[in-house]
Amino acid sequence: MTPDVFLQFAELFPEPMLLVSGEGVVHAANTAARDLMHLRRGVVAGVPLEHLVTESPAAVRRFVTRCLRSGQMLTGSLTWTSPTGSPMPTRAEGARLQSGTSADAPLVIIRCVPKQAATLRFVALTDQINALGREVRFRKQTEAALLVQAERLARSNADLQQFAYVASHDLQEPLRTIASFSALLGKRYGGQLDAEANQFIEYVVAASTRISDMIRDILTYSQELDPDRFAAAPVDTQSLVALVLNDLQTSIHDTGASVEVGTLPTVHAQRAGLAQVFQNLISNAIKYQGTAAPIISVSAEHTGSEWVFSITDNGIGIAPEERQAVFGLFRRLHRDERPGTGIGLALCKKIVERHGGRIWIESAREAGSVFRFTIPASPRR
Ligand code: ADP
Repeated sequence: MTPDVFLQFAELFPEPMLLVSGEGVVHAANTAARDLMHLRRGVVAGVPLEHLVTESPAAVRRFVTRCLRSGQMLTGSLTWTSPTGSPMPTRAEGARLQSGTSADAPLVIIRCVPKQAATLRFVALTDQINALGREVRFRKQTEAALLVQAERLARSNADLQQFAYVASHDLQEPLRTIASFSALLGKRYGGQLDAEANQFIEYVVAASTRISDMIRDILTYSQELDPDRFAAAPVDTQSLVALVLNDLQTSIHDTGASVEVGTLPTVHAQRAGLAQVFQNLISNAIKYQGTAAPIISVSAEHTGSEWVFSITDNGIGIAPEERQAVFGLFRRLHRDERPGTGIGLALCKKIVERHGGRIWIESAREAGSVFRFTIPASPRR
């Protein structure tokens, strides 16, 4: 190999590389090696290697001779002098050049890896490995903490659900007694009591009916918290809404409401839950009527990956700043005017969200409100 061919190849390496003769005389050195020796290209050729390093001439020659004789790459040490005069130890990897004819003088290629650089690289790698180890430990700890948290949440959710169920279920019994006995009191002794006492009895009956309604709704809500209760199947919403309207026919008749139902799809949903949503929204559209008879429309539109259902009314409407709040538990805007428990919309929200949908309110074009909710078009996994 000529020095020029060696250089073409050696310049590709970031480490210092030298081509030396069997006698240890430098034939060529790449840029990295010349930088190490502070020598220009022309100057380096013909310089004995032992003049450039701090090892003894015998040690340098021994290394070159060993490399020549061995068919493999050998490792030794060569120490150079830095620009500031301090020694720069390198790990020298030397090997006899295999190419060429037997007539060619044997040559040795030496690659020098600065020990400092190798150490620095090792330290940097160790730092990276340590950082990765810390990251893995941190992630594992976070995962474990999240798991504990999730278990705790699931437990407290189950406890709450159980509590709400038991409390509301067990409250119903004594309440029924209060309601029926106060009604009996009014019926049996109404004639013997004065007008004020009769009014008191009426208050008691009305209040216990109201508590009973609230308990019924809390019970429904608490059951909605049970994740095991969610079992979805294809539901034809056209016939579902027809059934809901049938249940509401008395109030539709009493208020003179007209309800227009568009073409409704079949969706993958929990039938009873979806029926509850339509029931609550349509009965609210009737209940919160304005001065005119309620005009209600129920429609559905397929947009992207979901169905958007709309229930539009011409009722009293909801102020924009209240449109979010009314979905909270017990939130009622028209407390004294119309009967209700303030749980209906919270229940709708819970049911819709369990289906992976959203629910919101918009202003109707003329007067009133539009309640919209979405149900994903494809079944939830
Ligand atoms: P409620 O039992 O009071 O009807 P909801 O949770 O169903 O409870 O509704 C919460 C509040 O939202 C109601 O008290 C009412 O003030 C308001 N609201 C609900 N639906 C309508 C509607 N269609 N038009 C106007 N206001 C409504």
